[in-house]
Amino acid sequence: MKRKRPQHAPTAWQTSAQWRMIGSAAIREWNAKRFNLPKCNAARKSDREPCRHIAMENGKCFIHGGRTPRGEEWHRTQWPDGKSPDAEKKLRKKLAERERAARKRSTRLAAMSPEERDQHDAWHAARTPGSAAARQRKRDERKQAAEIRAMLERPQPAPSAETAELAKQIAALRAELEARRVDPQKPTGAFA
Ligand SMILES: [Zn+2]
Repeated sequence: MKRKRPQHAPTAWQTSAQWRMIGSAAIREWNAKRFNLPKCNAARKSDREPCRHIAMENGKCFIHGGRTPRGEEWHRTQWPDGKSPDAEKKLRKKLAERERAARKRSTRLAAMSPEERDQHDAWHAARTPGSAAARQRKRDERKQAAEIRAMLERPQPAPSAETAELAKQIAALRAELEARRVDPQKPTGAFA
């Protein structure tokens, strides 16, 4: 049985020579510039050569991470826009992708040796997700703590003979003061 073609009203492109000219000009313009646009430098799976698709904003093409969100959204799942006509299909695809990724991850974790697992956990512990501001704040705190530690660990200069003599005198006076507190009538050298 021959499938029936859906019948659409003729588009502007089919009925108007002017629209066709506008379309051709746009395609010519795109073809002229597309070869000079920056290319994706990810390695192709098939032969490990550079991918050469047109790069997106972050230097990778739409397949190799060009669509990965940036900033605060980079580690969150991007859900489809509910208003889009195929939102349900997109959502189902997203959920299936997440499930597949989770399965792949658990397989990988199960195959790890204890040392590899420790290394993996350490890597993830050092890269806690969060907003850019929160991560910067934590970096600053770590830096300050390291500076304070370094300052405390720096060797203190040895006290000079003069300082040692003063410290001895202060200790003697303190002892005398303490003795006076116990017995106010007791005659003393320094306070006589
Ligand atoms: Zn690519």
